[in-house]
Amino acid sequence: MIQCTGAPLTEPAFRERVSAMPARSGAEYVESIRKQPPRVFLGGRRIADVTAEPVFQEPIRAIAEQYDMQQDPAYRDVMTYPSPTTGEPVSTSFLVPYSREELVKKRKHFKLRADHNFGFMGRSPDFMNQFVTGWHLMADRFARAGARFGENATRYYEYVRERDLFLTHMLINPQIDRSKTSAQQEDPYFHLGRVRETADGIVVRGAKMLGTMAPITEEVAVIPFGGVAPGDDAYALAFGIPSSTPGLTFICRETVSPLPRSRFDHPLSSRFEEMDCIAVFEDVLVPWDRVMVDGSPGSAEVINTLGADYGALLNVQTSARMLSQLEFFCGLGMKVADAIGITGFLHVQEKLGEMLSQMEIARAVFYGAEAMAQRLPSGVWVPGGHGLRAFHLQTGKVYSRFVEIVQTLAAGGFFYAPSEADLQSPELRPMIDRYVRGRAGVSAEERIALFKLAWDATGEAFAQRMAQYVRFYSGDPIRLTAGFYTQYDKAPLFELVERALGRRDGVPLPITPDDPGAPIPYQPGTRGMAGTYAATSLPSSAPSRAPSTQ
Ligand SMILES: Cc1cc2nc3c(=O)[nH]c(=O)nc-3n(C[C@H](O)[C@H](O)[C@H](O)COP(=O)(O)OP(=O)(O)OC[C@H]3O[C@@H](n4cnc5c(N)ncnc54)[C@H](O)[C@@H]3O)c2cc1C
Repeated sequence: MIQCTGAPLTEPAFRERVSAMPARSGAEYVESIRKQPPRVFLGGRRIADVTAEPVFQEPIRAIAEQYDMQQDPAYRDVMTYPSPTTGEPVSTSFLVPYSREELVKKRKHFKLRADHNFGFMGRSPDFMNQFVTGWHLMADRFARAGARFGENATRYYEYVRERDLFLTHMLINPQIDRSKTSAQQEDPYFHLGRVRETADGIVVRGAKMLGTMAPITEEVAVIPFGGVAPGDDAYALAFGIPSSTPGLTFICRETVSPLPRSRFDHPLSSRFEEMDCIAVFEDVLVPWDRVMVDGSPGSAEVINTLGADYGALLNVQTSARMLSQLEFFCGLGMKVADAIGITGFLHVQEKLGEMLSQMEIARAVFYGAEAMAQRLPSGVWVPGGHGLRAFHLQTGKVYSRFVEIVQTLAAGGFFYAPSEADLQSPELRPMIDRYVRGRAGVSAEERIALFKLAWDATGEAFAQRMAQYVRFYSGDPIRLTAGFYTQYDKAPLFELVERALGRRDGVPLPITPDDPGAPIPYQPGTRGMAGTYAATSLPSSAPSRAPSTQ
């Protein structure tokens, strides 16, 4: 059996680390992944030291920059808050907001991180920091299978927070045969499942389909997404272990940013590639203190009833990223149009206006959700209304449209953008300066740089992966959108129709409440994700419009 090398979360060791590791610097992060290398394969090669591998170096640098921001006087007040355990600064992404002001602080922090990379890094550390904060907030629900599981959720959150670790997450099983449950697959361990338990923990075997950034992370968090089918208790697993755990292998996809990388030629992809990989677990022992759901009988029920009210906080992180990206695309579209003198054409103005109006709707939703913030019975503040979730469900389409508009405006201009090397050639430079320039006042070098940026964002393999990411980053948009409909509190809307039909004559017109309505669970129920939708759209009953903790 392969032992997990993760340091046990015994209290004395934990305390020692607490005092040793407030919000880290970039150098500390890099040193950590160099010292504890995960088992990574790229292009058939075993990568012994990811920090020395050119494919990973720039993304590592980008992540390290975010760690450095925590110590930068210009950002540290937004990036950090005092640890409830030690008083030392820790990342704001771990902050549990017990006031509206703390919710605002979290939002500013998420947006700052997203602006750092124009929203091209969806899985920067703050994403998983918020994710494990959600685990902590749901500790009582993990505890339904035993008090220790709830304690583990909180201690794991504190462990990650105090060590300022960088995590990846693995939710989805490999596709293999989606018409079957995990237990029904040809091999019971195609999907990651529990093999047995020992005195030390649970032994797990199988694969998880995608772990973005896994090769350059320090921990892996596993939990099923979208519900667990009946009979699949052994696959209802939630735990966190070091990425370097023996028996855990990451097989990377091909890079979407081939080497050598020139910042001029590929301003985004040269820096912000988020590597994806499949994770294979070969009889990995997960120590008991790292287990939140152990795959024993009844575990599916625990996963399926976890609830997702704290998903609203994670949605602030993902929406901040999306908004930063839409803002960037608006700037890009207008600059591209301006560089070649097409901003006077009506259809170009209409397209740019379309982008700007979509961006403004996104801004209104993003900040408006905060204005409607709600205090849950637990005392935790979350963004209010359904706007962030609705925004999330639409982002794939909006993003694709933004890409299409930038491509429509740039047209063939992408393809006469010589490289940095061409610009450096004394023989070519005069021709390039003369013929590759833009409108009066826009030099060839400026036009080329701009169009390269636009192609990097919309055309390169990097851009295609990004578009697919935006579509799927929080699950299948088709089922999630259908779930939004099935779970929506329809009664007030049906009531309008009843009034229009004259069936409420004599009943006073209700004054619209300020209350944005009962929260909708962040993801549809298991049946929805399994594709079995309600046959009717009868009004859902909404006995209480108070926020729920379920
Ligand atoms: C770039 C990228 C990065 C990602 N990074 C991560 C990561 O870091 N961690 C992670 O855990 N996941 C990650 N994911 C995975 C992501 O969570 C999934 O892609 C997403 O949940 C959709 O699941 P799937 O890809 O397995 O699609 P599938 O569920 O296999 O769906 C494929 C198609 O079949 C349809 N379909 C399948 N089953 C049903 C059904 N029961 N009813 C109706 N229609 C059905 C879907 O609508 C879809 O059109 C990433 C995905 C991408 C694209």
